[in-house]
Amino acid sequence: MKSFKYVLLGGGTASGYAAREFVQRGVEPGQLCIITSEAVVAYERPALSKGFLLADKPARLPGFHTCVGKGWERQTPEWYAEHGIEYMTSTRVVSADIAGKKLVLDSGEEVGYEKLIVATGARPATLRELGVPGAELEGIHYVREVAEAQALYDAIADCKARSARAVVIGAGYIGMEVAAALAGNGLAVTMVFPGGMLMERLLPPEAASFYEEYYKERGVEVMWGQRGAGFEGEEGRLEAVLLQDGRRIEAGMAVVGIGARVNKELFEGQLDMAKGGIEVDGRLRTSNPDVYAIGDVAAFPLVGYGGQLQRQEHVTNARLSAAHAVSAIMAPEETGDYEYLPFFYSRFFALSWQFYGTNKGKSVMFGDKGAAKFGMYWLAEGRVVGAFLEGGSAEEFGWIKAVALRRPEAPATEERLAAKGLAFAAAV
Ligand code: FAD
Repeated sequence: MKSFKYVLLGGGTASGYAAREFVQRGVEPGQLCIITSEAVVAYERPALSKGFLLADKPARLPGFHTCVGKGWERQTPEWYAEHGIEYMTSTRVVSADIAGKKLVLDSGEEVGYEKLIVATGARPATLRELGVPGAELEGIHYVREVAEAQALYDAIADCKARSARAVVIGAGYIGMEVAAALAGNGLAVTMVFPGGMLMERLLPPEAASFYEEYYKERGVEVMWGQRGAGFEGEEGRLEAVLLQDGRRIEAGMAVVGIGARVNKELFEGQLDMAKGGIEVDGRLRTSNPDVYAIGDVAAFPLVGYGGQLQRQEHVTNARLSAAHAVSAIMAPEETGDYEYLPFFYSRFFALSWQFYGTNKGKSVMFGDKGAAKFGMYWLAEGRVVGAFLEGGSAEEFGWIKAVALRRPEAPATEERLAAKGLAFAAAV
């Protein structure tokens, strides 16, 4: 059996940033092994629904390997080899023996470890597992891994050639980004989602309505209050999407973004679980002292929010939790508890927004929707606890981040806060 001092299970975004931290902290050649089922080394996953799908000069590997998202060195396969890191690609771990401190690979081989970091992320929730009729047809796409994004990209070209419509099911950030990319590629696009408005989980109607109008103006058909109830096809290939209300939309392709399932099954019954993932403490350590979990799979105490356990399926958490866990392993005496400020961002069409903190509480809108520059503050117990900004500059995004971090006292009235707008954040 091969054995390593450190094993990173998963080769996604968190894993790439963890590898960087290991190297920065002086890991020695032969000490670190990374195992991933993907065929390529770690990359910046958010690129798959953005730059990867662009009509013009789409992003391709090796261009977006980690850690280019932070402007740091691009870690190609050669980078890992140079640092003496053993990287097992196209290798799936099929079982884990926490008591025996080893992993079993799909080849039957075993890999032992002294310290294990679990970075297995998540996979798309599928309509097939929900039993939707026709969900197995060719032409129904999901986007999690680079191979799936490539299949989607090829399908776009095929649909364009056939002048076929694309249907996007789901209006989370993947649905929003993919719909924009498909429209940007010249396809006729219909979005189908069960809610009442795009972005309604994040924003109140007065702000969310902006996005619906914006998409409609760019030719995207928006069908809310609808689920994909079934699919029709011929010779195994998608022909139409059926809606709950009986309508039938002819489609050359469908893209489904209805949420994610956490890859935690290998550890069920062996590690404590919480919030649909693996429970960790402030040092990202699981219920076993030699096993850590980072990124989407980890449920960690959110400092500043009463220490409640939360999972965060966001790239900033993947990057920061990765560095923190490696620091906790290699420099425990200088590592405190992981402090994370919830942060989401997205970009579609010419829009770009960021959100920090929490959207629980009373919301106050500011700015100018007509100029695509507006924002939102959330108030709780007399303080501003969350902030959203569309169309900000780097400096302005920094201001709203500071608001969520410092949670300043709110002005006496909501009207005053709305009138101050970004100036309120600038002064924090
Ligand atoms: P992942 O990056 O998913 O990596 C998990 C890895 O583990 C994968 O390589 C997988 O193959 C491997 N693995 C799993 N099980 C096994 C096994 N048994 N054996 C071997 N290998 C295994 N977040 C944002 O904040 N902003 C965005 O704009 C944004 N856009 C996104 C767009 C898309 C299309 C997607 C899919 C996600 C996006 N995210 C975004 C979320 C962000 O990418 C994730 O939060 C981040 O990738 C999590 O990193 P991770 O390393 O925990 O998991």
